[in-house]
Amino acid sequence: MNSLLKKESNELGPLFEKIVSQGKSYLNTINDRATSTKHAADVQTNLNSEGVGTLGALQQFNERFEPLMVASSGPRYWGFVTGGTTPAAIAGDWLTTIYDQNPQGLKGVGDVSANIEIESIQLLLDLFHLPKDFFGGFVTGAMMSNFTCMAVARQWVGKQQGKDIAKEGITSSIRIISTTPHSSSIKALSLLGVGSSNLVKIDTLKGNREAMDADALEHYLKNNPTEPFILISSAGTVNTVDFDDFTAIAKLKERYSFWWHIDAAFGGFAACSSMRQHLVSGWEHADSITVDCHKWLNVPYESALFFVKQKHGVLQVETFQNSNAPYLGNPIENFNYLNFLPENSRRLKALPAWFSLVAYGKDGIREWVDNNIAHAEQFGKGVEQSQPFELLAPVRLNTVCFSLKEEVKPNEVTTFLNAVNATGQVFMTPTVYKDRKGIRAAFVNWRTTAEDVSSVLALMNKVLTQLRNEN
Ligand SMILES: *Cc1c(COP(=O)(O)O)cnc(C)c1O
Repeated sequence: MNSLLKKESNELGPLFEKIVSQGKSYLNTINDRATSTKHAADVQTNLNSEGVGTLGALQQFNERFEPLMVASSGPRYWGFVTGGTTPAAIAGDWLTTIYDQNPQGLKGVGDVSANIEIESIQLLLDLFHLPKDFFGGFVTGAMMSNFTCMAVARQWVGKQQGKDIAKEGITSSIRIISTTPHSSSIKALSLLGVGSSNLVKIDTLKGNREAMDADALEHYLKNNPTEPFILISSAGTVNTVDFDDFTAIAKLKERYSFWWHIDAAFGGFAACSSMRQHLVSGWEHADSITVDCHKWLNVPYESALFFVKQKHGVLQVETFQNSNAPYLGNPIENFNYLNFLPENSRRLKALPAWFSLVAYGKDGIREWVDNNIAHAEQFGKGVEQSQPFELLAPVRLNTVCFSLKEEVKPNEVTTFLNAVNATGQVFMTPTVYKDRKGIRAAFVNWRTTAEDVSSVLALMNKVLTQLRNEN
């Protein structure tokens, strides 16, 4: 055994205590840590022959990288839709690493971890008020969940035409219909060989909307008799968090033949809020649903869910079966997660989510979801009531899309956003909405408070005044 490894295996206690204490001090001061940095680390290209041990590595990390870490899981990181990490989720994540399991089958060699994953899926279905006729699993992110769901959808389309696409490959084009799909769905279509240019876009509803006009969809279907196709619905568009009308689409599904996928990466959490759960009503009729856990469930990165109706299980196994490995057994008879999703070996991704669900329950999760909705409303009101800013769309859930009423100086929206982000007090991200440059603030962090929101509104006014007074 290598002498460093031998030494360290006898000193786990002091080693881990150092890490725990560093973790505690990071999290205890995360509210004060900057949300941006001006510096990048130098990237080294040579590996030493002799190792420096874990404490040596820690020292290097602390000197070279740690000071550049931004508070992306802190309360005023409102860029993209970046979630935080709850104490329970961190505990679950640490144990995931320590136990180092690979959740696959249910019996014998597959150990208990697949059962933990299946239980987590059941708890999540309950949290979202979804029926138990969905099966699900964990993948790295909503992008991979969209990919997983659409791979099964692709197999379904083939079957409607008497083909086994997983075996034969795609021999004729597959139509995809959507209105405001997330960029990752387009990426998934490219990866799946379906081709992003086979996407037909249906008009949005009239007014300041990003949701699909279900009447326009029906009109299109009447006038363009089409082979079975894949419909991608949005439960929360990224700019304005708009939702397609799932009740109307469910009705169309009774008359037309399509696979219905809903991307509910963060919008699915509307189901936890008594004030907003109507936004997802009807989503239980979908064939597949994507939800991210590393966004609004506030578990560490790489955690997302796919839900696929159990009745499509055979299609799912046909798509993902790892069947040229006889030692893994018959994919239909012996349940094994690796026949249901893209990855073969995975970490026990479900454990951080399981810890969060069990630790905080429906009420705890509802509370931070409702708080974040209130933060978005508070921020939206502040923007509306201000002199220089305006909303680009109504605040529908947890994200605010806004801009300057007018650009007094050229490129002012960008200059302003860069200046606000450079303060390190808050981080927001740019967007373009209906041809206007805008800014998005997404509220998904359990740590965020009403004071954070009012302090950022004050900061925005201060930064803009300074910029406009400069020559
Ligand atoms: C964030 C997001 C995705 C992509 O999720 P990743 O977890 O980054 O892979 C897909 N769809 C929607 C609606 C999203 O908000």
